Amino acid sequence: MEVDCEGCAGCCLDWRPLTADRDAGHERRGERDPLDDVYNLVPLTRDDVHAFLDAGLADAMRPRLWKPAARDDAVTIDGHEVAAIGDRPVFFVGLRKPPKPVGPFGVEETWLPTCAFLDPETLQCRVHESETYPDECADYPGHNLVLDAETECERVEDAFGGERLVEGTPPEDLDAPAFGPQAVGSKVFVYPDPADLDGVVGRLAADDLTTEDRARFVAVAAASAPGPAPSNRTAAKRPTNAPSPSRRGSAPRPRSGTDSRTRGVDADASLADGVEVARGAPETPGWTVGSDQ
Ligand code: SF4
Repeated sequence: MEVDCEGCAGCCLDWRPLTADRDAGHERRGERDPLDDVYNLVPLTRDDVHAFLDAGLADAMRPRLWKPAARDDAVTIDGHEVAAIGDRPVFFVGLRKPPKPVGPFGVEETWLPTCAFLDPETLQCRVHESETYPDECADYPGHNLVLDAETECERVEDAFGGERLVEGTPPEDLDAPAFGPQAVGSKVFVYPDPADLDGVVGRLAADDLTTEDRARFVAVAAASAPGPAPSNRTAAKRPTNAPSPSRRGSAPRPRSGTDSRTRGVDADASLADGVEVARGAPETPGWTVGSDQ
């Protein structure tokens, strides 16, 4: 598998506002629609969650809940039906996409929802090859190739030309995608008490989650164990090192790419130096011939 990522980052940001296809539900695998509108959410494993907690980066994470498919258990919270096991909501933990000034595919820099860890200037990942580099990112787009599903690379090629998926044979050492019951506790998590989520689900659907809301889910994911979901409700303990605001990540934003902080602010990728790098975010190397990031 060989990809050309220079000047792209199509899998790390929400580029729907740049195209007429902006309502497409790309990457929303399966039959369930999420309650949120985050594009290409990176689902984190339990080990990823622990790595982010250990690194003090809890605030970069957010939950995803789903509308139930026809045969799913479901529970209604804040007027929203959510997919559940019994009456306990199931969820992913993913990475947040705050607005950043980026210019992918050669377009003029503009505010787009962008992964908390993408360097807007180089369009490279700040955690590439670090302890916190998510498994899902390391495997992308290998699982799509195995499943014969369109990759983000090919979508970018269709919309903006060029060759992004240079050689489309998936790596032989690719881990199998975690689907189905075996993913429970390691990638799909179960929230123990739906009563805890009164108000939270409404804020999630309105793209208005608080730090405390996100922390609830991160704590449950971190305390989860792989295997069948328990048959009774168990109170999840919050890990002692869990969720507190970190130096990276900021509040979610409307999908247009602007919010109260960015409205009227010219999109300039060099702003990242004063916001992210100044707060300790690792710098990225930039592109050299043969670079594969
Ligand atoms: S963690 Fe890195 S590779 Fe993964 S989506 Fe974020 S910026 Fe992209």
